[in-house]
Amino acid sequence: MLTASGTPEVLYSRMQSLLRTWSHAPTAAEAPELAELPAADDDEPTVAVAKTPAAARANPQILELVAQLIENAIGFLLIDTPDLAKEATQLAAAARGAQSDDQVAAVAGQLKKFIYRLQFVAEDQAELKTALLHLLQLIIENISELVVDDQWMSGQVALVSGLVSQPLNLRRLDDVERRLKDLIYKQSTLKQSLNEAKDRLKEMLATFVGRLGDFTATTGEYHDKIERCAAKVSKANNITELSDVIDEVMRETRVIQLNARRSHDELVDMKRRVEESEKEVARLQNELSQASEMVRVDPLTGALNRKGMDEAVEREVARARRHKAKLCVALLDIDNFKKLNDSLGHKAGDDALVHLASVTRETIRPQDTLARYGGEEFVVVLPETHIDDAVAAMVRVQRELTKRFFLHKNDKVLITFSCGVAELNDTEAPTEAIARADAAMYLAKRAGKNRVIPA
Ligand code: GH3
Ligand code: MG
Ligand code: MG
Repeated sequence: MLTASGTPEVLYSRMQSLLRTWSHAPTAAEAPELAELPAADDDEPTVAVAKTPAAARANPQILELVAQLIENAIGFLLIDTPDLAKEATQLAAAARGAQSDDQVAAVAGQLKKFIYRLQFVAEDQAELKTALLHLLQLIIENISELVVDDQWMSGQVALVSGLVSQPLNLRRLDDVERRLKDLIYKQSTLKQSLNEAKDRLKEMLATFVGRLGDFTATTGEYHDKIERCAAKVSKANNITELSDVIDEVMRETRVIQLNARRSHDELVDMKRRVEESEKEVARLQNELSQASEMVRVDPLTGALNRKGMDEAVEREVARARRHKAKLCVALLDIDNFKKLNDSLGHKAGDDALVHLASVTRETIRPQDTLARYGGEEFVVVLPETHIDDAVAAMVRVQRELTKRFFLHKNDKVLITFSCGVAELNDTEAPTEAIARADAAMYLAKRAGKNRVIPA
């Protein structure tokens, strides 16, 4: 019961209840410092009011456990408050060393003050967490405005945004970190190849422009020479002079022909290389956008997509089998969704899907996973859950939907769904459990919709 827990709030309340059940209870007279404790704590039936004789309740085991709790769990939470961390170490030592009733009473007094200060630390940490999340949300909003055209980045933003819109959960953080790392790695290698291909293209274009320049320079020279020859021709007085000019014209023409052929061949070669590079760029770009599909989130609803669900199911099933724990899958299908689309339009249908997903996500527990299975079908994975509790959880989502209507142009629209729930058997594959949930969902439809049926 004294194992380290994730949050200071929980530890704080555990310490409080420990103190209530603790061994020795000095009166205010025995431990005068208790009389000065803040009024806020006065209503707690703690040390100061207990009356049982000390000897009957002095319990070294509990003292040892308190010392361990302070050292192993609380000390770790006080990294940012070194003063209090030091006090915690001293307190643990005092608890361990306390033998006489007086010593125990003194420790109790110190512990009470310590708990009081710990409460502030817990509050500070909670506020810090909220502020950080808020900051992250702001950053994400800003990024998403910058990258509207970049499918790749939008995928990543949706992923992180989905994470921070839900209660923080280590399991989910882990998951997102792992996927983002994959993405960033893949993206950086692809972007590098893409940049190299683009650089090659640029280089070739530069050569091409250079060649073109050479060519015009030669033809310019040729032009000048021909003009000069023409002038000589007009001034020529005899055949010999004229034949010299003709020789010169012939020579220059041959040079220009050779140049032209060389340039032509080079241009053909260049064209071929440019086309190859263009193909390479297109291929890399295609690969880049395919890689964006590695994002496991459905962009419309923020729920996991099919791929994301497969991964999550695989992970949760492995965990459940390792811990010999129950696991349920629920499959829900919105009732009469086609009618909603037809009467209110496809955009309203999309908004309804978003609404359903967010109500569901906010109603299920943080460790449950929501995935979009198909168009208007969703799967909820519920780890460590017995079938009865899973059915109750899905009924809670239904009830929540009747409280939080979907608003379409200020009209309240009730969304209902039919749902089948299956508890994973020891030997079956997750897909089989989902198939059973699907069959139960179908029964729910046949039985009149808007209900949850266990498989
Ligand atoms: P039932 O109660 O039997 O489930 O009836 P239904 O109308 O919900 O079921 P059906 O399978 O006939 O229709 C599902 C509809 O969901 C058809 C499809 O156009 C719509 N749909 C699927 N994906 C989307 C989407 O992303 N956005 C919108 N707006 N509609 C979608
Ligand atoms: Mg359907
Ligand atoms: Mg439907």
